[in-house]
Amino acid sequence: MVEMEFHHVLRLPFLLLLYRFEKGRIYTFIGEVVVSVNPYKLLNIYGRDTIEQYKGRELYERPPHLFAIADAAYKAMKRRSKDTCIVISGESGAGKTEASKYIMQYIAAITNPSQRAEVERVKNMLLKSNCVLEAFGNAKTNRNDNSSRFGKYMDINFDFKGDPIGGHINNYLLEKSRVIVQQPGERSFHSFYQLLQGGSEQILRSLHLQKSLSSYNYIHVGAQLKCSINDAAEFKVVADAMKVIGFKPEEIQTAYKILATILHLGNLKFVVDGDTPLIENGKVVSIIAELLSTKTDMVEKALLYRTVATGRDIIDKQHTEQEASYGRDAFAKAIYERLFCWIVTRINDIIEVKNYDTTVHGKNTVIGVLDIYGFEIFDNNSFEQFCINYCNEKLQQLFIQLVLKQEQEEYQREGIPWKHIDYFNNQIIVDLVEQQHKGIIAILDDACMNVGKVTDEMFLEALNSKLGKHGHFSSRKKSLNVALACYSVIGFIDKNKDTLFQDFKRLMYNSSNPVLKNMWPEGKLSITEVTKRPLTAATLFKNSMIALVDNLASKEPYYVRCIKPNDKKSPQIFDDERCRHQVEYLGLLENVRVRRAGFAFRQTYEKFLHRYKMISEFTWPNHDLPSDKEAVKKLIERCGFQDDVAYGKTKIFIRTPRTLFTLEELRAQM
Ligand code: ATP
Ligand code: MG
Repeated sequence: MVEMEFHHVLRLPFLLLLYRFEKGRIYTFIGEVVVSVNPYKLLNIYGRDTIEQYKGRELYERPPHLFAIADAAYKAMKRRSKDTCIVISGESGAGKTEASKYIMQYIAAITNPSQRAEVERVKNMLLKSNCVLEAFGNAKTNRNDNSSRFGKYMDINFDFKGDPIGGHINNYLLEKSRVIVQQPGERSFHSFYQLLQGGSEQILRSLHLQKSLSSYNYIHVGAQLKCSINDAAEFKVVADAMKVIGFKPEEIQTAYKILATILHLGNLKFVVDGDTPLIENGKVVSIIAELLSTKTDMVEKALLYRTVATGRDIIDKQHTEQEASYGRDAFAKAIYERLFCWIVTRINDIIEVKNYDTTVHGKNTVIGVLDIYGFEIFDNNSFEQFCINYCNEKLQQLFIQLVLKQEQEEYQREGIPWKHIDYFNNQIIVDLVEQQHKGIIAILDDACMNVGKVTDEMFLEALNSKLGKHGHFSSRKKSLNVALACYSVIGFIDKNKDTLFQDFKRLMYNSSNPVLKNMWPEGKLSITEVTKRPLTAATLFKNSMIALVDNLASKEPYYVRCIKPNDKKSPQIFDDERCRHQVEYLGLLENVRVRRAGFAFRQTYEKFLHRYKMISEFTWPNHDLPSDKEAVKKLIERCGFQDDVAYGKTKIFIRTPRTLFTLEELRAQM
């Protein structure tokens, strides 16, 4: 009972988390938000028996756990036909991806009691999709050996019985710059190492690859790094998962060919000798041509020239050495990113719900799970961190809006006295980044639209003149400060423009490998047909974030906030400073303040009576009072809880969870 009371007590969350962490309890409720502290060791708390303890129970009946929130989201979806979503946030290495997998496992475990084969098949595919996406989208970073370098939102669709019948994945901005370069101590995406370490001799030979990681320029930085992931074993797991999901052998083959192409591209060297640019290692070009099912001279031409339309003429303009290297790197990044998006699309094709007839089967509801990159502040922050952190500011804003504003508004609606609480409204930061015409992204796009050469420094000047007075913006030479993070503007223009010479797109489209060709439909256009300037990387990202937040806002949200206890991946250390900081920016303090001022639980009078009317002789089996509200008052007084509740217009509000728990016990004794 003491335990029961303690983990809901809304004291300073930081101390509470520390106390619980030291006792090995990694989950804590703050209101209905589950806070999770990464244990950095395997805990025996996800097994079948634990699942059974949470299945179908109310949130407050069991100790805090991810399963409690998963069950709450599932119940809301099933009982009330609500679309729900579980938003998982926290910084890199805090445990978001692990949490999302446990949540999916829980949902898989509690559904389909009748073991319908089709549902089992869908569940298996949904679970298997994780390891494929992680192989291609995750990498070892200095923060996390298995860091997600893309954002992921997954919908699971349910039929009227509450069983999973399909799903859909949205992916967000893959950090593709990692394909060509990594920070010291980091690696490229797992997929490269898995192929080189786990691919059979025959596979490697067919791809003209050798096992030695340090032979490849694009990945040699992290070649010797120890990583907690077993690349060789994982290669087989991923290949099997791809088969189970339904990738065809030639599709899996093509994926390997793309990885090999990238490794070979990295080793290309250009020499410009007078008027004729040359590729130093011509043999590599023919290997790339073979892997891409195209001709050697076409690959060479795409690497050394670009086709430009000048008025009516179409000419081949020769690259400088620098342009050729830029083009090669852009090509490597682009084919990797395209491969990743294609994998997501293929998974979606396969797991998408087909032939669901709502007139026969009722509403098809969804639970969405969001696992997106957390705040990142490094010594040197670039365009990618800018996008990632903007995304987090936006999600934080949604959290504030939904949890805090809704809470206040509900009290107002219900006529319950409310002490106003100040909280930091994040909208001002979000606007600073995304506002039309005035925000940082708009100013960046303007700079990129200029025909002349605009440098990153000029972009910074434009920011200074337009945003210099903004309270949350400041800049130094070469860097900009947005709220508390500092970004180097170097590379912003390039990364935002994200130029890939049209010649490469045509090269891919003209491949005789149909899988490759289908990945590059825009290569169909000839040079004279390409007129429209594509949207910039930042604008595409902004649009996808706005759509994501709208989508989340339309669902009933459940939150998991993950905390990283230390920077050493240690199960023993709870670093006070680091944790205090996370508690602060995750808005947990505000959350607690709102909750402490308020009530942990509320329910409409009608529903409340429906559940608890057997407890009192005044209400069982029916009451003769003028309203349900009066009946509930009578019931509460009968139990002696009158000091712990408030009566709203339509709902009863209960301050402490313990009261609710006792009501549950009384009910069980009847
Ligand atoms: P990123 O933003 O970099 O993707 P993340 O928040 O997704 O980070 P995870 O990959 O989920 O972080 O977790 C990092 C590591 O922490 C895991 O590889 C695992 O070793 C450990 N970990 C996280 N959660 C748990 C858990 N519940 N039990 C045991 N270990 C965990
Ligand atoms: Mg992750």
